[in-house]
Amino acid sequence: MSTRTADLLERAERVMPGGVSSPVRAYRAVGGAPPFIARGNGARVWDTFDREYIDLVCSWGPLIVGHAHPRVVEAIVSQAQLGTSYGAPSPREVELAELITEAVPSVEMLRFVSSGTEAAMSAVRLARAATGRDKILKFAGCYHGHADGLLAKAGSGVATFGLADSAGVTPGTARDTLTAQYNDLATVEEIARAVPLAAIIVEPYAGNMGCVPPEPGFLAGLRRICDSTGALLIFDEVITGFRLARGGAQALVDLRPDITCLGKVIGGGLPVGAYGASRSLMSRVAPLGPMYQAGTLSGNPLAMAAGVATLSLLDSSAYEALDHSGARLERGLTEAIRASGIDGCVQRAGSLLTLFFSSGPIRDDVDAARADRGSFAAFHRAMLSRGVMLPPSQLECWFVSLAHDDGVIDLVVRAAHDSLKEIVG
Ligand SMILES: *Cc1c(COP(=O)(O)O)cnc(C)c1O
Repeated sequence: MSTRTADLLERAERVMPGGVSSPVRAYRAVGGAPPFIARGNGARVWDTFDREYIDLVCSWGPLIVGHAHPRVVEAIVSQAQLGTSYGAPSPREVELAELITEAVPSVEMLRFVSSGTEAAMSAVRLARAATGRDKILKFAGCYHGHADGLLAKAGSGVATFGLADSAGVTPGTARDTLTAQYNDLATVEEIARAVPLAAIIVEPYAGNMGCVPPEPGFLAGLRRICDSTGALLIFDEVITGFRLARGGAQALVDLRPDITCLGKVIGGGLPVGAYGASRSLMSRVAPLGPMYQAGTLSGNPLAMAAGVATLSLLDSSAYEALDHSGARLERGLTEAIRASGIDGCVQRAGSLLTLFFSSGPIRDDVDAARADRGSFAAFHRAMLSRGVMLPPSQLECWFVSLAHDDGVIDLVVRAAHDSLKEIVG
């Protein structure tokens, strides 16, 4: 059976919508056929033609130590030899839960699930169980997975396809989700005073409308509004957890949310999510309490082993290295933008960044939507042809890993100089 990309894409499109398992992977926003990836190592991936790319997708965030890190591979292989799933508690999940609760002070107890979607969906259920209230507030451009009630104005994936909301979500469900603009505290205050909210859910540093950091005071304001109105504050740290700092964005801004959602990095490239909170809140979760939530493969031993191995590589020098590489890339891209004369700006938080084709600053999804997607698509194709794989949408973060050393970053910057020059013409 042939594994040439053209044939693979044709076969894939026959049996899977768009030929993919998650929509943005189909490259509809940038044009062209997505490379099918045969292998990855460090900062690089190779497609089925054995073409090499520097990878700035990094599985959309989980691969903070790069592809196929020997310690992570070793942990997965040795666990696999002992069995892949038990449907019973096992030692590695205790270990990973302890690592997380030590690193994130607001999380005293947690429950493992298999995706960020499940983490956010369960966090909302917990907030409703604890408050006895129905409605939640989310921010336009923030993504919290694809659960029905969280798909309103849900950022990159949804926005890339021009769907304000998803088909198939009932009006009844949609009614319980209110939205405000990111960084707009005044509207949040107005809504929270008028409507009893179970929760305000937010990406503390937004990563799903491109990289959009919170303005000073925004997150503290949300904490204050929640405290004064009885709503719970949910930080969705599926991207930022263990990426911006070991304690996540909440450590950076020194705030404690009531509930935290985790995913991506904590699974080290295997399917893991988690939601966690204080002991008293988590005591509402079955079997301790009345909120039901379960999973056949939750706490899967392979995934737990990959998570433990990944987190054990993330000491303070790792975060310095990630920030160093992110800063080097930001500087290089900013210089490339200046040299080309295009209208662009780079927004960064640690090892997350986005080059927006807009003069910026980008504060919310309305600003992000003004960025020139046609230019981004041309830039994406130009970078791909130079062996640099960027996330295939203007509204995504680029992910830098520990494997992206100075040499790799400089190759990306060189490719960006040439690509910008090419698209300016
Ligand atoms: C990726 C993401 C999710 C969803 O996680 P999945 O594992 O894809 O279900 C939720 N919240 C945020 C902030 C994310 O970036």
